[in-house]
Amino acid sequence: MILENKTILVTGASRGIGKATASYCLESGAHVIANVRNEDQLQELKSQFGPLITLLIYDVTDEAETQKAFKQIHASAGKLDGLVNNAGIMQDSAIALTKLTSLRQMLEVNTVSSYQHMQLASRMMSRNKAGAIVSLGSAVGESGAQGQSAYAASKSALNGMTKSLAQELGSLNIRVNMVSPGFIETDLTQHYAVEKKRAIVNDIALKRAGTALEVAQLIGFLLSDNAKYITGQNILIDGCFSL
Ligand code: NDP
Repeated sequence: MILENKTILVTGASRGIGKATASYCLESGAHVIANVRNEDQLQELKSQFGPLITLLIYDVTDEAETQKAFKQIHASAGKLDGLVNNAGIMQDSAIALTKLTSLRQMLEVNTVSSYQHMQLASRMMSRNKAGAIVSLGSAVGESGAQGQSAYAASKSALNGMTKSLAQELGSLNIRVNMVSPGFIETDLTQHYAVEKKRAIVNDIALKRAGTALEVAQLIGFLLSDNAKYITGQNILIDGCFSL
């Protein structure tokens, strides 16, 4: 039970990596605060874990609602040990076809909202002089990919935030890390054509896509005290795709 007695907020917990992370953290002993936009999506976890999971329904790009959510966490749990900035969107398009609204949307969901969550979380964590933050980056933020310049921008910005905040918050014993998946089978990558998936898998040394659970297990480790000397890192989990 590597996360026993820890209170952890996971954004975008309705599906994919966020749902797997919420579930893994619960199984590892944490009290999970799961951010979703639609309550129905988490009924399954709610019936499985009962009072150990708390739902907070808001859109992560809504600044006022996010502030309200942290006030609720403060009032109900009184502390926050971990934050997982998972909520994210990806819209692929060549630069010639990319609308600036699409770029702005990805920056709002993937980058700006993560910054606000880190700001509010670090304020709560600083009171206890302990905390761990994990943001979901992407292998694309590291190495780039055709048709993903806007998405890559939103994720590599997170890398700079992670490294800066690790330095800024280290003296408060708040660790800040990033996990950058390669190709994970979730709704985010479901629209890829079969040939594209085959080509990606062919370039992966381990010759398969990753699973949401495999990413969740890495996130859980980074949130736990087993990782208490790890901060400021961007850990790729891509089956050796980016080399
Ligand atoms: P999914 O598309 O399966 O899930 C995305 C999650 O984000 C959903 O829970 C969705 O909620 C939530 N979300 C999106 N926008 C908002 C918002 N404005 N407010 C609140 N929640 C929101 O994606 P994955 O699980 O695959 O991805 C999770 C993270 O991992 C993302 O940050 C993604 O960029 C990153 N990643 C994924 C990779 C992959 O191969 N799958 C590779 C690299 C990085 P809702 O159900 O309400 O839409």
